Amino acid sequence: MSKESNALVSEESPSTNAVGVHAEKVSVGAQPQSSLFPNYARYPLALVKGQGSWLWDDQGKRYLDFMSGIAVTNLGHAPQAVAERLKKQIDELWHVSNLFHIPGQERAAVLLTANSSADAVFFCNSGAEANEAAIKLARRYHQKVKQTGRYEIITFTQSFHGRTLATLTATGQDKVKEGFLPLPAGFKSVPLHDQAALEAAISENTAAIMLEMVQAEGGMYPVDPAFVDVITKLCREHGLLLIIDEVQTGMGRTGKLFSFEHYGIEPDIFTLAKGLGSGFSVGAMLGKGYLREAFTAGSHGSTFGGTPLAMAAVQATIETIIDDKLPERAAEMGEYLFHSLQKQLGEFPFVKDIRGKGLMVGIECAEPVAELVLVGQKKGILFITAGPNVIRLLPNLYVTKDEIDQAVRMIAELIREHVA
Ligand SMILES: *Cc1c(COP(=O)(O)O)cnc(C)c1O
Repeated sequence: MSKESNALVSEESPSTNAVGVHAEKVSVGAQPQSSLFPNYARYPLALVKGQGSWLWDDQGKRYLDFMSGIAVTNLGHAPQAVAERLKKQIDELWHVSNLFHIPGQERAAVLLTANSSADAVFFCNSGAEANEAAIKLARRYHQKVKQTGRYEIITFTQSFHGRTLATLTATGQDKVKEGFLPLPAGFKSVPLHDQAALEAAISENTAAIMLEMVQAEGGMYPVDPAFVDVITKLCREHGLLLIIDEVQTGMGRTGKLFSFEHYGIEPDIFTLAKGLGSGFSVGAMLGKGYLREAFTAGSHGSTFGGTPLAMAAVQATIETIIDDKLPERAAEMGEYLFHSLQKQLGEFPFVKDIRGKGLMVGIECAEPVAELVLVGQKKGILFITAGPNVIRLLPNLYVTKDEIDQAVRMIAELIREHVA
């Protein structure tokens, strides 16, 4: 019987079945094969410590962090205000079931609704779970409140909405769907900025339109304001709900607390996760008051949604973002980053476009940039890609001009070396 067989009784290496193995005694790297599933293509670095804009690996080498865990650590690493609240909460209470009132959840929800166009909040644990809740709320509103059979959600090509079966189906990129058939019914994707395709996709079954205001994973494309006007008009005409996925764009990153504020619109539903807990895993789905009656008691839930610990992180994060005026700061530093990049990289024919919003910047290049990420790591800067040809920069919202200068210098250098 081989190790790769799917037999009920397999001859796994004895260590995996051994009783009493303790994590500290396991020497990582000594095994012939990792004990983790190989579903991540990991960079050859192990980061073990972080402070502000900086990370250290297990060899003591320091890196300037221009990815922030993919727009998660918006306040930088180990922000003191959040750390203090979490430490206090750890000594008081970690978890309590949603069968009870959770005062921290009420307070976090008040902070979110007082600072946005939403009236009600549902807390969960991730972006996918928040989008899943948004999809369920949209369907249930039409089916239970409006008494129609509407179920379909229209999304956009190149979008990204998560990895659960419903949210990967909502995602307008085929690469996340391979090998996971059959997909749930009720989703259609149309090209962004294509009014005719969007109009043609709307039917009597359409429940909602769902989009990111900056398509992030899809290549850092901000949505054109004129197209947002088209979407809001179509939603009004056809009675569709508008769902904005703010999982990556939210929490001040684009220069507003939520990116839809740039467009002067109020979505029916929007979702948050990445920057919401400064690195503590938490998600939220927020909606207008008229959607309350769609989520009656027992209609939806999550064991770990909105625990006292997560809510401590959320409250401290939002209060810090507001007190320190971080959206304004993101707008100002985003301008500075954008202009520095234009000045330093504009001359290279290799650089095709620089775009984004606030501290969410994409550098589109003439060729795939995966290798540049590794070269950057050698030089001491961390950034990621957004699609094959786009360098994605997501520094924390406290990033300084000096750190931006250092980052732009390193990026210009590695591009210069690459094209030489
Ligand atoms: C990351 C992301 C998600 C998924 O969030 P998870 O927490 O990984 O489930 C959904 N939408 C957008 C726009 C994202 O960037």
